[in-house]
Amino acid sequence: MRNTKQNSLIFNIINNSYSHLDAYSIYELCKKEIPNISLGTVYRNLASLVNNHKIIRIKIDGIYRYDKNIRHSHFICHKCGCIIDIFDDGFKDIKTIDGNIVDDYEIKYKGICKKCMKGERK
Ligand SMILES: [Zn+2]
Ligand SMILES: [Zn+2]
Repeated sequence: MRNTKQNSLIFNIINNSYSHLDAYSIYELCKKEIPNISLGTVYRNLASLVNNHKIIRIKIDGIYRYDKNIRHSHFICHKCGCIIDIFDDGFKDIKTIDGNIVDDYEIKYKGICKKCMKGERK
């Protein structure tokens, strides 16, 4: 049975977050609103939101994380592991590459983040 309250709660958590939450962190946040929610329910709602293209699922360092369905790329810091949203328009006009038709792309930038550069994170 479909529970729209749970579904929209999970959707809102992801859309109001910049931290690229994994399923368990989403579950922890859900419990604040719906104390009796189960981890299975969270997983089921996440799967249906992904299937309906309401949110996207990304895999970083072997962990699935959930994110807003807005075209953007990610910068991942080698040092602290933070994931930063990058809104780069540079690739959006690519229609073909090497004769293949492009309808989507996924770019991961990797390096050292600004905070690590400044020594703010250890
Ligand atoms: Zn860093
Ligand atoms: Zn993101």
